[in-house]
Amino acid sequence: MTKIRLSKSSISQAEKEAVLKVLDKEYLGMGEEVKHFEEKIKDYLQTSLDVVCVNTGTSALHLALLCLDLKDGDEVLVPSLTYVASYQAISATGAKPISCEINPNTLFLDIQDARAKITKNTKAIMPVHYASSSKGMDEVYKLAQEFELRVVEDAAQAFGSKRDGKLVGTQGDIICFSFDGIKNITSGEGGAIVSNDQEFIQRVQDGRLLGVEKDTDKRYSGQRSWDFDVKYQGFRYHMSNIMAAIGIVQLDRIDEFRKKRQNISKQYLKELKQIKEIELLNFDFDEVLPHIFVIKAQRRNKLREYLLSNNIECGIHYKPNHLHTKYKSSFKLPITEKIYEEILTLPCHFDLTKDEQEVAIEKIREFYGK
Ligand SMILES: *Cc1c(COP(=O)(O)O)cnc(C)c1O
Repeated sequence: MTKIRLSKSSISQAEKEAVLKVLDKEYLGMGEEVKHFEEKIKDYLQTSLDVVCVNTGTSALHLALLCLDLKDGDEVLVPSLTYVASYQAISATGAKPISCEINPNTLFLDIQDARAKITKNTKAIMPVHYASSSKGMDEVYKLAQEFELRVVEDAAQAFGSKRDGKLVGTQGDIICFSFDGIKNITSGEGGAIVSNDQEFIQRVQDGRLLGVEKDTDKRYSGQRSWDFDVKYQGFRYHMSNIMAAIGIVQLDRIDEFRKKRQNISKQYLKELKQIKEIELLNFDFDEVLPHIFVIKAQRRNKLREYLLSNNIECGIHYKPNHLHTKYKSSFKLPITEKIYEEILTLPCHFDLTKDEQEVAIEKIREFYGK
């Protein structure tokens, strides 16, 4: 029996041809394909916000925080249940991630807990669109307004996902996406920062190119900067034309990706809701475009072993960050710690077949003796 994969990239002939075209042009760095990809994302989101592409979702988060001038001693509120990328991006600026609880029904940031952890050093809040859902953002923006915090949405999992009928990234303060290999769309590796703050966007555009002022404009018109000024710390965080070429094709395919991932999730909901040992995150899968499908399961570790022994990959998203040595907190997060024992991520990707999903569901039923 072949392994049923938890997640994977889905690459068609079109992505391969697009990459070959860039290779033939022999302009591999950041140039017109990246410009085109940014315009295409903006078109897709139908937003007046600006889009800046970078080389990973993690650099999107890091650069966004850096351009807010976060410094040593500043604090950023963030749910502990997230990929360590969110935390590393915060600590890379010198700021301190302050671990917050989650709502047990959505696994989204618990706004009450975030409010209770605000201090005079709190500068920003980083809600994470866990499993692509961002129900609860309205409260985040209200809190941010009340305490004058910047909002950096870790929307790494939420490209193409909707909230109240609108695509994530259509509105808000700062929204960061990831296009890594297994996210909703991929550019190989990649990410984007979206914001309507013009000054901030300029900083981000320069910051992805070592802080070289206005280098983006130069590169997009096929030129180079020779005499320039640098005022801020920057990095080599720009996206390459090769990556953008993949991303452009993937964005054209997003409707088929959406349909498939939503159908898989609806099928899981339908089939697993009869099992009383399993609790489902009740997302609206006409809105959410799910990067991962997560359940809360009794005897999770045993179930996981059982599925693995039947060649069904599954995952745990994530080990809470306040349990890592680097980010250990002096306080406990009982809800997060309890949920960490229950969560299990089931196979969900564009190439998952009906048969494969049926096997996965059957094995879960079998485990619970149904
Ligand atoms: C994937 C992911 C990131 C990081 O994105 P990369 O492109 O892999 O660097 C950050 N946060 C969350 C929640 C993610 O899922």
